[in-house]
Amino acid sequence: MTDTTVRPIAVEGEELDELLFDYPTPDEASRDELPRVFMHHNGDRWYGTILGYGTSYEEAHTHVPGGRPSQGERCSGCRWTDVTIMWAQPVEDEGEGLMKPIAPWQYVVIVRGRSVLPGESQRVRMTWTPDPAMVLDALRVPVPKRMRVTGRERSVAGPHEDALLDAALLDDGLADVAARFEREKAGAR
Ligand SMILES: [Zn+2]
Repeated sequence: MTDTTVRPIAVEGEELDELLFDYPTPDEASRDELPRVFMHHNGDRWYGTILGYGTSYEEAHTHVPGGRPSQGERCSGCRWTDVTIMWAQPVEDEGEGLMKPIAPWQYVVIVRGRSVLPGESQRVRMTWTPDPAMVLDALRVPVPKRMRVTGRERSVAGPHEDALLDAALLDDGLADVAARFEREKAGAR
């Protein structure tokens, strides 16, 4: 496990990938047992635990490896989405290694659009909120046109849903919204 007491881990870096690879899943540890990590992004810093994670990454390509997917083609070996839900405490560096809390503990949803293609960089979107319902909203992604049911253009699916279902096992507030979302989905069928 990475030492989190000294230097924060960047959201954009591969260090977070390594951390997520080793981090206990809900069937391996209770919420109290989760290791605390220290992270930063764009000057923001926070401590926290990882409640849920999902990725659409695949090791296989839809085209000749080393090449590029053609225009409009989806290749999850080249471009994918990583979703992380944390329970986090925003802090400020007071100097001499002292970190002062600057906001209450809350959820943060980190959605990373990844790419290994030359010239394409990573996109990061973060949502901070104490409200589990807002976490659900942050996880909604556009539904492809052909799969839409009337009036429902956004839903929680793929890595976003994986992260939510993980987090629901550890957090009561997210368990409630996940259950509500499952009913909403069942009703849409
Ligand atoms: Zn590819």
